[in-house]
Amino acid sequence: MQRDFTDRRKIGMDLQLKHKVVLVTGGAKGIGAAIVRGVAAEGGIAVIVDRDADAGNKLREELGAQGKACKMIQADLTATEACATAIEQILHEFGGLDVLVNNAGVNDKVGLEKGSPTEFEASLRRNLSHFYNLAHFGLHSLKKSRGSIVNIASKVAVTGQGETSGYAASKGAILALTREWAVELISYGVRVNAILPAEVMTPLYQQWLATFNDPAAKLREIEAKIPLGNRMTRPEEIAATALFLMSAQASHITGQHIFVDGGYTHLDRALA
Ligand code: NAP
Repeated sequence: MQRDFTDRRKIGMDLQLKHKVVLVTGGAKGIGAAIVRGVAAEGGIAVIVDRDADAGNKLREELGAQGKACKMIQADLTATEACATAIEQILHEFGGLDVLVNNAGVNDKVGLEKGSPTEFEASLRRNLSHFYNLAHFGLHSLKKSRGSIVNIASKVAVTGQGETSGYAASKGAILALTREWAVELISYGVRVNAILPAEVMTPLYQQWLATFNDPAAKLREIEAKIPLGNRMTRPEEIAATALFLMSAQASHITGQHIFVDGGYTHLDRALA
């Protein structure tokens, strides 16, 4: 019987990111920096938007010395105007935008008991508003390029953590917006997906570990609970998934929530 195969000659793992303009928020460090390195390695133009100018410029110079394309825009994304200006700068310099990676965020511990309504709103601004603002200001270009959006959420959106209402609300909303935007943009061919990391060793994570009396013991305790390999997820492992999701190889994936966490969120606790 004749079966309906797609054209197999076109199947391969060429991500086809060459010359694609990819905005990565929080791209100066941690998960964002790993995505920036990945985009540059694939021949794309990585645009870092981050408030840490030193780290961002250092990464830009490092990639530039290897002949790779990277631009750094310093901005504090909590300001709506900064989001609009970053998009304007990209369009002015590159003429378009192919991919938006919404990644910047911070688990800022604004809890129900110890927080306040004002702090809660500020946390939403740190973790959620700029996801919407950049998608809003970049939408015209993303529609033109039939581009894609990759949102970085967190397992906290589905597990809770305690004492972090602002962050949990933001990450939960990011999952909802991933589905909502996937629907709204489907007729334009713009795909929208989310990644949920759990425990990834980054500068932010190191800072958090340093708040414990014995950071090494705390790290061992966490690693013991991660089923696959009893180790932290590497930023490069989040980046590899982000690169795939933004690429032409993921051309029929939209509205998805992908856990990259060594089985931390879903697998049987008896494994850990
Ligand atoms: P990171 O090491 O702190 O790197 C994030 C970068 O983004 C930093 O350079 C930071 O600058 C910048 N940034 C943060 N807020 C910004 C803002 N409002 N405007 C401009 N730049 C801003 O963080 P990470 O661990 O890679 O986390 C990246 C994303 O993954 C976050 O959304 C986080 O919630 C999510 N995530 C991480 C983990 C984990 O285990 N690491 C787990 C689940 C989810 P500063 O250093 O100046 O703040």
